Amino acid sequence: MAIYTGTVTSMVTSTGTVSRSAVVSGVVAGTVTASATVSYVETGTRSDIVTSTRTFTATMTAIIPTTVQTSVDTGTTTSTRVVSTTSSPIGGAGTTAQNNGPTAITTTSTGIVNTTSATSTATPVGNTRTQTGVRTATNTGAGTPTTSPTNTGGGSPGTSNPSSTAGSPTTSPTNTGGGSPGTSNPSSTTGSPTTPSSGTASQTASSTAISITVTPYTGPAIPRVDNPYQGAKGYVNPDWKAKADAEAGGNRISNNPTGVWLDRIAAIVGTSEAMGLQAHLDAALAQGAGYIQFVIYDLPGRDCAALASNGELGPTDLPRYKTEYIDPIALIMSDAKYINLRIINIIEIDSLPNLITNTGGQATATPMCDTMLANGNYVSGIAYALGKLHMLPNTYNYIDAAHHGWIGWDSNFGPTAELMATTARSAVGGFDTVQGFITDTANYGALVEPFITVTEATRQSKWIDFNRYVDEQSFAIAYRAKLISSGFNSNIGMLIDTSRNGWGGAARPTALSTSTDVNTMINASRIDRRIHLGNWCNQSGAGIGERPTAVGANGIHAYVWIKPPGESDGASSVIANDQGKGFDRMCDPTYTGNARNGNNMSGALPNSPLAGAWFSAQFQQLMQNAHPPL
Ligand code: BGC
Repeated sequence: MAIYTGTVTSMVTSTGTVSRSAVVSGVVAGTVTASATVSYVETGTRSDIVTSTRTFTATMTAIIPTTVQTSVDTGTTTSTRVVSTTSSPIGGAGTTAQNNGPTAITTTSTGIVNTTSATSTATPVGNTRTQTGVRTATNTGAGTPTTSPTNTGGGSPGTSNPSSTAGSPTTSPTNTGGGSPGTSNPSSTTGSPTTPSSGTASQTASSTAISITVTPYTGPAIPRVDNPYQGAKGYVNPDWKAKADAEAGGNRISNNPTGVWLDRIAAIVGTSEAMGLQAHLDAALAQGAGYIQFVIYDLPGRDCAALASNGELGPTDLPRYKTEYIDPIALIMSDAKYINLRIINIIEIDSLPNLITNTGGQATATPMCDTMLANGNYVSGIAYALGKLHMLPNTYNYIDAAHHGWIGWDSNFGPTAELMATTARSAVGGFDTVQGFITDTANYGALVEPFITVTEATRQSKWIDFNRYVDEQSFAIAYRAKLISSGFNSNIGMLIDTSRNGWGGAARPTALSTSTDVNTMINASRIDRRIHLGNWCNQSGAGIGERPTAVGANGIHAYVWIKPPGESDGASSVIANDQGKGFDRMCDPTYTGNARNGNNMSGALPNSPLAGAWFSAQFQQLMQNAHPPL
C-alpha cells in the first residue's frame, strides 16, 4: 500500500451517501449565533481512495426569531475539512493521479429548519455537496414563553436580512406564526433570550437558486379518501389554459384540468415559460380547486426506449433525483396551507414497463433500458418517490402502467405487475404508498372499441396481434385485478388518460364491418386509426377523448387529461435544447419504423416542436376529431 499526499491533480466524482447529525443550540429571541460540530460518515465508492479518515467542522449562524422556526436553509457555506487519505492506486503505483481531498469544500444546503436535532443526507459530487434535510434546534433560553418575543437588538426586522453564514439571504424572514418579531432587529449574536416565544414562525433564511418557505402541517391525522377525484373540482393550469385560449375554438376545452409536468429540476421553481410548483399550488387554492395533478417525471436515464423525452439526469444520477428533485417537491407540498388540497402525483411515465419489454436481448431492447434495469435506479427512484410523497397526508400516488398496446400481451402483463409490486414493496410505507395506477398517459389507445370483441378469432388479426385487450378500459380493469393479486391494496383505483384517445371525426367507423377477412374486418371496425399500436408520437387523426371526470365504477377512479392536449410528443427533426431531449425518428413522418412498431410508418404529424412545446396544428386536429364531439 502506498500513501500519497500532495496537490490535487484531478477531481473525482463520488457517489454515495453522507449522513450528518448535529444538535444546534441557540437563543430564541434575537439574532443567534449557534455553532455545530458536524461529523459524518461517508460511504460509497471512490475509485481512487481505499481508506480515508476525515474530520469536518462547521460553524453555523442561525436566526431564530421565535420558538418554532421553519426555514429553508439554502445557500452556500464554506467549511474547512481536514482530510487524511491513504490511497492505493488502481493500476499500480504512480499510474494514477491521487486526489487527497481539498482543504475547503462548498456545501449547499436546502431543507427545513425547525426544532431539535438535525439529520441530513448529502451526496458528494466532486467537491460540491448538496445537502437536504430537516434540522431541528433546541432553544436553550430561559423565560416564560409568550406570543411576542422581545428583540434585544436594534434594527427593523422585515426590512433587513439576518446575517448568516449559510448563504446570502435575499428575502426577509416572514413571521407567519402567533408571535410578533417585535419592532427592532436584534443585533446580538450571543445574548440570552428574555422571552422565548410560543408562536410559530416561518422564515426564509437565505436564497441562492431556490428559496422555499414552508410551514409544515402539524395538525391531527387526516385520513385519505379512497378516490380523490370524487366530489372535487380539478385545478386548471393557467399556463396551459392561456395557450389553449389563444387557439381558435380553444376556449371550448380550456377550462379542463390537465397534468402539470415537473419534467426537470428547474420546473420546481418555474421557468420563463411555466409556473413553478408553489405557484401552481397557490393558484389551486385561489381557484378553490379540490385536487391538483402533478407528473413526477425526471428519473435518471429517463425514457430509456425512446429519445424524444430523454431527461436531464444521467443513468447514475439517482442521488440528484432524490435530493434535488423529489425532496424539494415533497418539501413544498408539505406546506400546511395546502392540507385541504388533494395532491395527485402521477409517478414516472413508461419507466417500469420499459424494464420488462425493452431489455435483455429482446428485439425491442435498448442499451439504456438494459443499463437502467441493471443499475436498479428506476426501481430505487420510484420507491423513493412513493415513500417520500406518501409521507404527506394529502398526497395520492398513481404509478404509470403504460397502456394496453404495450403490456396487454401475456408475456408483459404479469411481469410488469410483479415489477410494480416489487418496487412498491421496497418503498418506505410499502403498498400503502400507492393509491392506484394510470394507463394510456400521453398515448392514444381508445378508451373503448365499441365494435370489437377480443376472441380467439379476432386475436389473429394483425391489429390485435394476440393481445388480450383491444382498448384501455378493459385493460385497466383487468390489470387492476392483476395488481391486487400481486399484493396491492384492494382499494386501488385506475386512472385513464383520455386527453387524446377520442378518435372522432369523419374517419370514425360507425358499425362493425361484415367482412369475412379478419384483418379487413378489424381494420374497418376499429376507431383507433393508427397505422400500428406501437406508434406514439403526435399521431395523425387523433382527437380529444372523454372530458376529465370522476368515474367511481369498476375500480376506475377517473378519466383524466394528464398529457395536456396541444403539447408535442417530440420533435419531427433535430432541435437543439438544454433539457436532454433527443430526436426520435418515431416523431418523423417519413420514418419507416423499428421493432417496437412492427417496422411501420410512424404516423406522426409533420413539423412538430420539441416534446412538451406547443403544437398548434396538433391542437387543432385534436379538437376537430374530438369524441364526444365538442
Ligand atoms: C415531455 C415533457 C412535457 C410533457 C407534457 C413529455 O413528452 O417530455 O417535457 O412536459 O410531455 O407535454
